[in-house]
Amino acid sequence: MGILDKIFGGDTDSVPPKYTHVKIHPAIDDGVKPATPGFSGGTLKCKCPSDQVVVTVEAQTAHNHVCGCTKCWKPKEAIFSQVAVVGRDKLKVTEHEEKLEIVDASAAIQRHACKGCGVHMYGRIENTGHPFHGLDFVHTELSPQSGWSPAEFAAFVSSIIESGVDPDRMDEIRGRLRELGLEPYDCLSPPLMDAIATHVAKQSGALK
Ligand SMILES: [Zn+2]
Ligand SMILES: [Zn+2]
Repeated sequence: MGILDKIFGGDTDSVPPKYTHVKIHPAIDDGVKPATPGFSGGTLKCKCPSDQVVVTVEAQTAHNHVCGCTKCWKPKEAIFSQVAVVGRDKLKVTEHEEKLEIVDASAAIQRHACKGCGVHMYGRIENTGHPFHGLDFVHTELSPQSGWSPAEFAAFVSSIIESGVDPDRMDEIRGRLRELGLEPYDCLSPPLMDAIATHVAKQSGALK
């Protein structure tokens, strides 16, 4: 290790992670896996032992992130969900659609859950005026394929307290998220917040 590496941060790999005991989500607790170049989609399967609901996604996902809100589906024990988006025209329910029901029809994102196992197979926005209309929300951990876009940030981090996480744990949880390279935000990431604000400004006429 040369002096320039020390000054310019080349030795950061030698700092051992402090918060590996903090579990965020099983898909990333051992490190965030990179996307496979050229990956173009796959299937998502619910957790029923038979007659699984299958959703086919014909594209790579985008904006994958872990989410601390109380609405997204997450595996038992996980304190965050992991959720990505894909164009709604790229998503089709290909098996056992009859097992799906909408969790809360009044929510902005209509989450379609399996009546058998409770897993949310996709979330869809039907309000054409919504900034994210046209995008479906999916949990790629439900896929037997690997290569999906990796989590890039953590959204709605403070909201995990609403699910019962001890507020005294927030420092170690934000510490672990940063170790994993997932910047913790208490809303969405700046590019997504900018996209929402741009949409609102264009609707109001403040932006042409
Ligand atoms: Zn199921
Ligand atoms: Zn969420």
